Amino acid sequence: MPRLRLAFLSLFIFTIASYSLAAPAPKPMQIYFIDVEGGQATLVVSPAGQSLLIDAGWPDADGRDADRILAAVHQAGLQQIDYVLITHYHRDHVGGIPQLVAGNGIKIGTFLDHGPNLEDSEVTRTDYAAYEKAIAGHAHVVVKPGWGVPMKGIEVRVLAAAGDRITTPLPNAGEANSYCKSEPTPAQDESENARSVGVLITYGKFRFLDLGDLTKKKELELACPNNLIGTVDLFLVTHHGFYESNSKALVWALHPRVAVFNNGARKGASPAAWQIVHDSPGLEDLWQLHYAAESDKDHNIDPEHIANPKENCEGKYFKVTATPDGSFTLTNTRTSNEKSYPKK
Ligand SMILES: [Zn+2]
Repeated sequence: MPRLRLAFLSLFIFTIASYSLAAPAPKPMQIYFIDVEGGQATLVVSPAGQSLLIDAGWPDADGRDADRILAAVHQAGLQQIDYVLITHYHRDHVGGIPQLVAGNGIKIGTFLDHGPNLEDSEVTRTDYAAYEKAIAGHAHVVVKPGWGVPMKGIEVRVLAAAGDRITTPLPNAGEANSYCKSEPTPAQDESENARSVGVLITYGKFRFLDLGDLTKKKELELACPNNLIGTVDLFLVTHHGFYESNSKALVWALHPRVAVFNNGARKGASPAAWQIVHDSPGLEDLWQLHYAAESDKDHNIDPEHIANPKENCEGKYFKVTATPDGSFTLTNTRTSNEKSYPKK
């Protein structure tokens, strides 16, 4: 065979081989920041289609939050919710569970939580009892710091639960945290907030942190004197953006690229906490589920970055899709605008 033709033939074979060897683009992980108006309901869908719902919003006579969760479940094309993780037993997180379980026929797999209620208050005892009753007969696992939730393709690592926490750094974390020196001594917190389950969800290089309503004293145990978590791409601002959480030493050490506030129109996004998140080194964008009506213009982001600018809202939400190279896209479902954050 003439040499030139041989060369072309080899090139042809090489080209075919490279096409057939090229891996298909990996499926994204999806995260829905469902608007439950100052509570939490975050739906995570793995690339393989497994699902984790973190909290279920408020109770409501019309089942508002359960309906909004179901809308996201349907939007994601899910037939069931594989795991429901309850961060703690405050009404804005656990209150929607009875309606979600009873009302609408969605199959729920396993409930995950930190174990019995640890707060001495009538309202929380009542809400915990309603939760226990609702999940009777379902699979139920009490999670501990360091444990992983078995989901294919992504890692869901428990960092804190029932007031305990991981004590050794995650891989590639553990650096001394220079922001600790100037951090004021945090207050003791006997509420369920301090018992929140906190998770880090990883898909390849992409890292998303959700610490529930963990307050400063417990936050700082994860961040000082060494940052046990490392840095994150996406940060669900803790405790709706209240100032009792979101210590600068934690937030700044996390070095988030993008922060999402699950605030309500009149709940969370305290100006001081908003400023800490806003000024966090390396922050590329801040998004709010609501305009914070009790704050001021200087402590609200521009309307393009808000899902629900009006107090009387339609429950618009944010959707994030993330790929294992660390790049991700956030969609504001009110405007349909998509913002991409390429890999770094
Ligand atoms: Zn809350």
